[in-house]
Amino acid sequence: MSLKGYIKENLPWIRSIYRKRLAPINLIHNIYDKPVVVLLYHRVNHLNRDLFNINVTPDNFERHIRILKNHYNVITFNDLKRNDIKEPSVIITFDDGYYDNYKYAFPILKKYQVPATIFITSGGVDTGKEFWWDRLETVLFENKNLRESIELDILNQRHIFDVSDDKKRLHSFYTLHHMLFSLHPNERDMMLDRWYESYGLKVNPNNRTMTSSELIELYQSQLIRLGAHTIHHPALKQISREEQIHEIQSSKLFLENLLHTDIDIFAYPFGHKESFDQVTEQIVRDLGFTYSVSTKRAQLHSNTNPFSIPRFGIEDWSEDEFIRQMKLVWFEN
Ligand SMILES: [Zn+2]
Repeated sequence: MSLKGYIKENLPWIRSIYRKRLAPINLIHNIYDKPVVVLLYHRVNHLNRDLFNINVTPDNFERHIRILKNHYNVITFNDLKRNDIKEPSVIITFDDGYYDNYKYAFPILKKYQVPATIFITSGGVDTGKEFWWDRLETVLFENKNLRESIELDILNQRHIFDVSDDKKRLHSFYTLHHMLFSLHPNERDMMLDRWYESYGLKVNPNNRTMTSSELIELYQSQLIRLGAHTIHHPALKQISREEQIHEIQSSKLFLENLLHTDIDIFAYPFGHKESFDQVTEQIVRDLGFTYSVSTKRAQLHSNTNPFSIPRFGIEDWSEDEFIRQMKLVWFEN
């Protein structure tokens, strides 16, 4: 390819790198302190809609894994304890513990013998229950009894949301998601139970989390490492210190009893700054974890706080887009 052709083909990502004025410094930094890039997946499935861009189709997931297998050094959190990180090193993680990780992602990881870590929200295991955001989606998008608007009582206050067309319905969904995010988990569960009952809605089995026997099979494969992710997936910062300890410790103990092994990695639910703070971080340290991960977008370096390891969220990218995105992460310290 000519130089002109090369520049033309790569212009979008070259431009986005240079927009980040720190890129040259980041690259120099990477020479003497080799980074690890931690990737964050949630779901691998075929979904009707993906309102938070957290799903990757099985076909695209296989494309990603093939690229990672052929061009990257895929390591695990265990390898971080050693001091010989080779570049480019990547850790693959999944949050939440959806059944589709077992159904679609695990066979692909096995096929290519690529290791990954899955953070499990223990409260859903063996219950068939859905996460609250999936239930909210069902209320708004899978609800045949929904007319022009929906009236909902939130904390003794009546709110009316316009759902008369797709755009308004989507806007109402995000507004409600934001309102429910800050509620206490018990309050939120009760509210969703009420809505499900009044609209005659049913659990969507496609949204369930993994069962105990599926978790045991993943663990016994020796390819998948499991980490804790609380019992109910609360925004930890929004609940009391005692409740935070209970949520984190119980999810750790659940997995330890199930798998008869130490669970020493943790993922903060939601993982952004509204969902955890230094109090949470200290609890995680005190409970004997070695690492915990957030959803902040950055590389992992030797001086990164092990209790706030950043990750790069992965979307349903095609092969070319995944290659492009993986080039970009090497410029973002
Ligand atoms: Zn999560």
